[in-house]
Amino acid sequence: MRIALIAHDKKKSQMIEFCKKNEQFLSEHILAATGQTGHLIMENTSLKVHCYKSGPLGGDQEIGAQVANNAIDLVIFFRDPLTAQPHEPDVSALLRLCDVYEKPLATNVSTATMIIR
Ligand code: PGA
Repeated sequence: MRIALIAHDKKKSQMIEFCKKNEQFLSEHILAATGQTGHLIMENTSLKVHCYKSGPLGGDQEIGAQVANNAIDLVIFFRDPLTAQPHEPDVSALLRLCDVYEKPLATNVSTATMIIR
């Protein structure tokens, strides 16, 4: 599977914890991420991640384009629902494309864990 990993700043520690906990599973798949999320995952695990631009600089849109091109099979996006994001339109666009193309989308750890099980 080709899996996209994204976490807003206040959710990055959860993403790292999730990746460490599921490192064996994730290592068997092709991983992509927005810039900062991807670099943090690589610094804290032995996973290899293709890093797009940082989310606020267009990374969410790049991943959205991959979803539209059927180049991503699962999106794990730990959103911060309590903080306004300057790139909220990009975030909404990515979530929308996941629905347009019927891609599984996990926006919290519980959902992501259930999907990968
Ligand atoms: P980042 O982007 O991984 O580059 O921080 C995530 C986001 O805010 O969408």
